[in-house]
Amino acid sequence: MSLAHDTEFLEGVLDPDQISRGTADRRERSTDWGTDEADAVLPDAVVWPESTADVSAVMEAANERGVPVTPYAAGTSLEGNAVPVRKGITLDLTRMDSVLEVRPEDRQVDVEPGILGQEVNDAVERHGLVLPSLPSSGRISTIGGMLANNASGMKTVKYGVVADWLLEIEAVLPNGEVITAGSKGVKTSAGYNLRDLIVGSEGTLAVITRATFRLAGIPKQVWGGRAVFEDIEDASAAVVDAVRSGVDVAKIELVDALSAEITNDYLDTDLPDQPLVFLEFHANHGIENEVEFCRTVFEDHGVQRFEVAESDAEMAELWEARREMADAFEPWREDLSPLTPGDVTVPISRYPDIVRHAKEVGAEYDILVPCLGHAGDGNVHYIVMVDPDDPEMVANGHEVSKRIVQRAIEMGGTATGEHGVGLGKQEYLAAEHGEAAVEAMRSIKRALDPNDVLNPGKVLPEE
Ligand SMILES: Cc1cc2nc3c(=O)[nH]c(=O)nc-3n(C[C@H](O)[C@H](O)[C@H](O)COP(=O)(O)OP(=O)(O)OC[C@H]3O[C@@H](n4cnc5c(N)ncnc54)[C@H](O)[C@@H]3O)c2cc1C
Repeated sequence: MSLAHDTEFLEGVLDPDQISRGTADRRERSTDWGTDEADAVLPDAVVWPESTADVSAVMEAANERGVPVTPYAAGTSLEGNAVPVRKGITLDLTRMDSVLEVRPEDRQVDVEPGILGQEVNDAVERHGLVLPSLPSSGRISTIGGMLANNASGMKTVKYGVVADWLLEIEAVLPNGEVITAGSKGVKTSAGYNLRDLIVGSEGTLAVITRATFRLAGIPKQVWGGRAVFEDIEDASAAVVDAVRSGVDVAKIELVDALSAEITNDYLDTDLPDQPLVFLEFHANHGIENEVEFCRTVFEDHGVQRFEVAESDAEMAELWEARREMADAFEPWREDLSPLTPGDVTVPISRYPDIVRHAKEVGAEYDILVPCLGHAGDGNVHYIVMVDPDDPEMVANGHEVSKRIVQRAIEMGGTATGEHGVGLGKQEYLAAEHGEAAVEAMRSIKRALDPNDVLNPGKVLPEE
């Protein structure tokens, strides 16, 4: 296979065991979780930096030669964010995976970017501390990938997104210069907020080489709950009412009847084939009052069953199906596969409207669209199920997806609440932010990366 870029200069920058041009290593990093084999792009070389100095040296040398560099971590992105579409070098950050320092007295931790989210929590747990807002993929994805994609998860409704806990980063710019952005003080108004510019930039503006987080205390009380509703309208209205009424809930997840049915097939569980709301409450005292408050709100929306789990074992059983659900859709039916990972998020008052819209548009094209999501923050993961061998159905599926995204944007929401733009959501960027804002983003990219070497082809649509 011919290589697009000469990467021989790497031998002068890193040790031999930090460089590979082997097909297996390149193939492994040619897709991410959301990218089909058909769209795989093999990089010319894979490198494993072990320090900020390594990252800086690779970037400086690649930038001088105009060779593309794509940061890559666990590869769990769902929108092609980490695929090296212009080939060049894949910069695999997973060897930079240490906890650098825990400072319990400040409730802070410094970590390298390649550490898995759960490993951060394993390291701070003995101090009674937690980084509370990991995505559902927190056990399999890295801190650098989370910050780059501006990831979040089920607990956003109480704790915000991962980056809401970020105080300071160290990052390497495309020309190899090393900067720090933010502060270890919990607030700063000193200069442009480069930290938050780099967060969510999907590795197109800088490579994150260190992150300092503030931490929360582990809550003393954690209870789970599950509510069953007659129809999806009642379930989504109950979620909106709970959030609006100020129920202090840490997770509030909507699962429609079809997703429950698909999950039962996959996991052999016995979830009711009805709309469900999964709940988790965190408190240091008085948790039962909050749970009762939630029950009262749900009763106003005709909840049929409201189960509560107080012990860890009961909790695990109650939540198991929800945790495993993401894997249930692909194997469900031989003739149907999920088309795109829908990830819209709308202001909470519009939540029932967007769920209804997803169902209606699917029905219009005779396409099944199971819906689930982090309802408390207005997020819906709608899953468009199509027969990949039926071109008309695939085209209709794309139309369904497009119409759901467009409606979410019209409602003041976003095309992607947590997965990022990558390749898959570029077509919506201007509709969401306006041409002028996209042009401002391009100006920032040109200023920081004039040679377009860092993860080129991502986020910003072709001009
Ligand atoms: C089963 C499953 C469940 C998921 N659940 C959620 C969820 O609940 N919430 C959510 O938000 N996402 C979720 N995701 C998506 C994904 O896990 C997250 O976006 C995750 O944060 C990506 O991390 P990663 O380590 O896999 O990064 P990668 O996929 O390797 O890379 C992600 C992006 O970050 C860039 N990058 C990686 N490291 C760095 C760095 N150090 N500096 C600069 N750029 C870098 C890459 O170039 C790429 O653009 C899920 C994915 C799966 C497969």
